Amino acid sequence: MRKLPGWKELVETGPIILEAGNSVEYKTGDWRTFRPEIDYSKCTTCLFCWLFCPDSAVSFDGKKVEINYDYCKGCGVCAAECPVKCITMKEEEK
Ligand code: SF4
Ligand code: SF4
Repeated sequence: MRKLPGWKELVETGPIILEAGNSVEYKTGDWRTFRPEIDYSKCTTCLFCWLFCPDSAVSFDGKKVEINYDYCKGCGVCAAECPVKCITMKEEEK
């Protein structure tokens, strides 16, 4: 049986982070099948979506929440947690 490399060998060939903060370049939102859309006429600015988003894709500028679709993966957690159900998951159009 072929011997698998140990972790010390993997360091030579595995992913290497050359610069801190370079994850902003990886637009993970293109994995999305469904996109959350906010009905601002019903939004109470409770910030539950901001709090619960596992990808930190919801921002708050002090007035309203906004979804950054570059990083939103469409998991639907925000829509499930929104107490007034003003977030709708819509099928992504390519
Ligand atoms: S769908 Fe998921 S990733 Fe996108 S904003 Fe809502 S909680 Fe965040
Ligand atoms: S959870 Fe719903 S009501 Fe609360 S800030 Fe987000 S969109 Fe608005």
